[in-house]
Amino acid sequence: MDAIERMLGGYRAFRANMPEDHTKKLRALVEAGQSPQAAVIACSDSRVDPAFVFRAEPGDIFMIRNVANLVPPMEEEGTFHGTSAALEFAVLGLNVPNIIVLGHAHCGGINAMIKGDEVVKDGYHFVPSWVSMLSSAHRRVLATMPDATPEETQRACEKNSVLVSLENLTTFPWIRERIAERSLKLHGWFFDIETAELEIYDSKSGRFEPVT
Ligand SMILES: [Zn+2]
Repeated sequence: MDAIERMLGGYRAFRANMPEDHTKKLRALVEAGQSPQAAVIACSDSRVDPAFVFRAEPGDIFMIRNVANLVPPMEEEGTFHGTSAALEFAVLGLNVPNIIVLGHAHCGGINAMIKGDEVVKDGYHFVPSWVSMLSSAHRRVLATMPDATPEETQRACEKNSVLVSLENLTTFPWIRERIAERSLKLHGWFFDIETAELEIYDSKSGRFEPVT
Protein backbone atom coordinates (compact mmCIF):
# COMPACT_ATOMS: atom_id res chain seq x y z
CA MET A 1 0.00 0.00 0.00
CA ASP A 2 1.45 3.36 -0.90
CA ALA A 3 1.52 6.35 1.43
CA ILE A 4 -1.58 8.02 -0.05
CA GLU A 5 -3.62 4.82 0.11
CA ARG A 6 -2.54 4.39 3.73
CA MET A 7 -3.70 7.94 4.54
CA LEU A 8 -7.07 7.38 2.86
CA GLY A 9 -7.37 4.06 4.70
CA GLY A 10 -6.71 5.96 7.94
CA TYR A 11 -9.44 8.44 7.04
CA ARG A 12 -11.94 5.65 6.37
CA ALA A 13 -11.11 3.99 9.70
CA PHE A 14 -11.44 7.38 11.43
CA ARG A 15 -14.91 7.87 9.90
CA ALA A 16 -16.03 4.33 10.67
CA ASN A 17 -14.91 4.43 14.30
CA MET A 18 -15.84 8.00 15.16
CA PRO A 19 -17.49 7.94 18.61
CA GLU A 20 -20.88 9.61 18.95
CA ASP A 21 -19.58 12.24 21.41
CA HIS A 22 -16.84 13.20 18.92
CA THR A 23 -19.46 13.98 16.29
CA LYS A 24 -21.36 16.03 18.87
CA LYS A 25 -18.18 17.86 19.87
CA LEU A 26 -17.36 18.80 16.27
CA ARG A 27 -20.91 20.08 15.75
CA ALA A 28 -20.74 22.16 18.96
CA LEU A 29 -17.41 23.62 17.84
CA VAL A 30 -19.00 24.74 14.59
CA GLU A 31 -22.06 26.19 16.29
CA ALA A 32 -20.29 27.95 19.18
CA GLY A 33 -17.03 28.59 17.33
CA GLN A 34 -13.57 27.61 18.49
CA SER A 35 -12.11 28.82 21.74
CA PRO A 36 -8.68 27.16 21.96
CA GLN A 37 -6.87 27.67 25.25
CA ALA A 38 -3.42 27.67 23.62
CA ALA A 39 -1.66 28.57 20.40
CA VAL A 40 1.31 26.29 19.81
CA ILE A 41 4.18 27.26 17.53
CA ALA A 42 5.88 24.02 16.56
CA CYS A 43 8.22 22.76 13.87
CA SER A 44 6.82 21.20 10.69
CA ASP A 45 8.92 18.11 11.44
CA SER A 46 6.82 14.95 10.94
CA ARG A 47 8.12 13.52 14.22
CA VAL A 48 6.77 16.38 16.34
CA ASP A 49 3.00 16.40 16.37
CA PRO A 50 1.72 18.50 19.29
CA ALA A 51 -1.82 17.11 19.01
CA PHE A 52 -0.41 13.58 19.33
CA VAL A 53 2.05 14.37 22.14
CA PHE A 54 -0.45 16.34 24.25
CA ARG A 55 -3.42 14.09 23.41
CA ALA A 56 -5.30 17.16 22.24
CA GLU A 57 -8.88 17.11 21.01
CA PRO A 58 -10.34 19.22 18.19
CA GLY A 59 -10.73 22.78 19.46
CA ASP A 60 -7.91 22.50 22.03
CA ILE A 61 -4.89 23.87 20.17
CA PHE A 62 -4.54 26.64 17.61
CA MET A 63 -1.61 25.20 15.69
CA ILE A 64 1.10 27.20 13.94
CA ARG A 65 3.86 25.14 12.36
CA ASN A 66 6.87 26.19 10.34
CA VAL A 67 10.53 25.27 9.87
CA ALA A 68 12.26 25.35 13.29
CA ASN A 69 9.26 26.69 15.30
CA LEU A 70 10.25 30.29 14.67
CA VAL A 71 8.44 33.54 15.32
CA PRO A 72 9.85 36.36 13.20
CA PRO A 73 10.13 39.80 14.78
CA MET A 74 7.24 42.18 14.09
CA GLU A 75 7.69 43.78 10.64
CA GLU A 76 5.42 46.40 9.09
CA GLU A 77 6.77 45.83 5.59
CA GLY A 78 6.27 42.75 3.51
CA THR A 79 3.04 41.06 2.55
CA PHE A 80 3.21 37.36 3.15
CA HIS A 81 3.77 37.02 6.87
CA GLY A 82 2.22 33.61 7.45
CA THR A 83 3.32 33.08 11.04
CA SER A 84 2.53 36.67 12.09
CA ALA A 85 -0.93 36.42 10.48
CA ALA A 86 -1.65 33.17 12.34
CA LEU A 87 -0.52 34.76 15.62
CA GLU A 88 -2.68 37.81 14.97
CA PHE A 89 -5.69 35.57 14.40
CA ALA A 90 -4.98 33.56 17.56
CA VAL A 91 -4.48 36.61 19.78
CA LEU A 92 -6.85 39.24 18.35
CA GLY A 93 -9.48 36.90 16.94
CA LEU A 94 -9.56 34.07 19.46
CA ASN A 95 -8.06 35.68 22.59
CA VAL A 96 -5.90 32.63 23.34
CA PRO A 97 -4.69 32.87 26.95
CA ASN A 98 -1.46 30.91 26.27
CA ILE A 99 1.16 30.82 23.53
CA ILE A 100 3.57 27.88 23.65
CA VAL A 101 6.75 27.76 21.58
CA LEU A 102 7.61 24.09 21.20
CA GLY A 103 11.21 23.40 20.16
CA HIS A 104 12.56 19.93 19.52
CA ALA A 105 15.76 17.91 19.35
CA HIS A 106 17.25 16.77 16.02
CA CYS A 107 15.71 19.70 14.13
CA GLY A 108 16.57 19.75 10.42
CA GLY A 109 15.88 23.49 10.21
CA ILE A 110 18.35 24.25 12.99
CA ASN A 111 20.86 21.92 11.35
CA ALA A 112 20.45 23.88 8.09
CA MET A 113 21.12 27.10 10.01
CA ILE A 114 24.31 25.63 11.51
CA LYS A 115 25.46 24.37 8.09
CA GLY A 116 24.90 27.84 6.59
CA ASP A 117 26.31 28.17 3.06
CA GLU A 118 26.48 24.41 2.66
CA VAL A 119 22.69 24.18 2.25
CA VAL A 120 22.68 27.13 -0.17
CA LYS A 121 24.96 25.02 -2.36
CA ASP A 122 22.34 22.25 -2.15
CA GLY A 123 19.86 24.62 -3.82
CA TYR A 124 18.03 25.85 -0.72
CA HIS A 125 16.84 29.44 -1.08
CA PHE A 126 14.03 30.07 1.44
CA VAL A 127 15.21 27.98 4.39
CA PRO A 128 18.57 29.78 4.89
CA SER A 129 17.00 33.24 5.08
CA TRP A 130 14.18 31.98 7.34
CA VAL A 131 16.53 30.32 9.86
CA SER A 132 19.02 33.21 9.68
CA MET A 133 17.00 34.86 12.48
CA LEU A 134 18.90 32.43 14.72
CA SER A 135 22.38 33.42 13.51
CA SER A 136 23.18 35.66 16.47
CA ALA A 137 21.98 32.95 18.91
CA HIS A 138 24.25 30.48 17.06
CA ARG A 139 27.22 32.83 17.43
CA ARG A 140 26.42 33.19 21.14
CA VAL A 141 26.36 29.40 21.57
CA LEU A 142 29.72 29.04 19.78
CA ALA A 143 31.25 31.78 21.97
CA THR A 144 29.93 30.44 25.28
CA MET A 145 30.43 26.71 24.54
CA PRO A 146 33.74 26.59 22.60
CA ASP A 147 34.43 22.94 23.54
CA ALA A 148 30.95 21.63 22.74
CA THR A 149 30.52 18.66 20.41
CA PRO A 150 28.46 19.27 17.23
CA GLU A 151 25.57 17.43 18.93
CA GLU A 152 25.78 19.69 22.01
CA THR A 153 25.98 22.80 19.82
CA GLN A 154 22.91 21.70 17.88
CA ARG A 155 20.95 21.00 21.10
CA ALA A 156 21.89 24.43 22.50
CA CYS A 157 20.83 26.13 19.24
CA GLU A 158 17.53 24.22 19.28
CA LYS A 159 16.80 25.41 22.82
CA ASN A 160 17.87 28.92 21.89
CA SER A 161 15.41 28.88 18.98
CA VAL A 162 12.64 28.69 21.61
CA LEU A 163 14.09 31.69 23.47
CA VAL A 164 14.50 33.74 20.28
CA SER A 165 10.88 33.03 19.35
CA LEU A 166 9.69 33.98 22.85
CA GLU A 167 11.63 37.22 22.58
CA ASN A 168 10.27 37.97 19.12
CA LEU A 169 6.70 37.36 20.33
CA THR A 170 7.08 40.40 22.58
CA THR A 171 7.85 42.62 19.57
CA PHE A 172 4.14 42.47 18.65
CA PRO A 173 2.37 45.30 20.55
CA TRP A 174 -0.91 43.37 21.05
CA ILE A 175 1.04 40.51 22.64
CA ARG A 176 2.96 42.90 24.92
CA GLU A 177 -0.30 44.56 26.00
CA ARG A 178 -1.97 41.27 26.87
CA ILE A 179 1.05 40.05 28.83
CA ALA A 180 1.03 43.32 30.81
CA GLU A 181 -2.68 42.96 31.62
CA ARG A 182 -2.11 39.25 32.48
CA SER A 183 -4.56 37.89 29.94
CA LEU A 184 -1.81 36.11 27.99
CA LYS A 185 1.10 33.93 29.08
CA LEU A 186 4.08 32.81 27.01
CA HIS A 187 5.67 29.38 27.49
CA GLY A 188 8.89 27.84 26.14
CA TRP A 189 8.85 24.04 25.84
CA PHE A 190 11.33 21.57 24.35
CA PHE A 191 10.55 18.02 23.18
CA ASP A 192 13.20 15.36 22.66
CA ILE A 193 11.86 13.21 19.84
CA GLU A 194 14.25 10.39 20.72
CA THR A 195 13.20 9.96 24.37
CA ALA A 196 9.73 11.57 24.03
CA GLU A 197 10.58 13.74 27.07
CA LEU A 198 9.36 17.29 27.53
CA GLU A 199 11.24 20.14 29.22
CA ILE A 200 9.85 23.52 30.21
CA TYR A 201 11.83 26.75 30.24
CA ASP A 202 12.06 28.29 33.70
CA SER A 203 12.75 32.00 33.35
CA LYS A 204 13.93 32.17 36.98
CA SER A 205 16.70 29.57 36.60
CA GLY A 206 17.22 30.32 32.89
CA ARG A 207 17.13 26.56 32.25
CA PHE A 208 14.86 24.01 30.62
CA GLU A 209 13.58 21.72 33.39
CA PRO A 210 12.13 18.22 32.77
CA VAL A 211 8.41 17.69 33.30
CA THR A 212 7.86 15.04 35.94
ZN1 LIG B 1 12.45 21.04 13.45
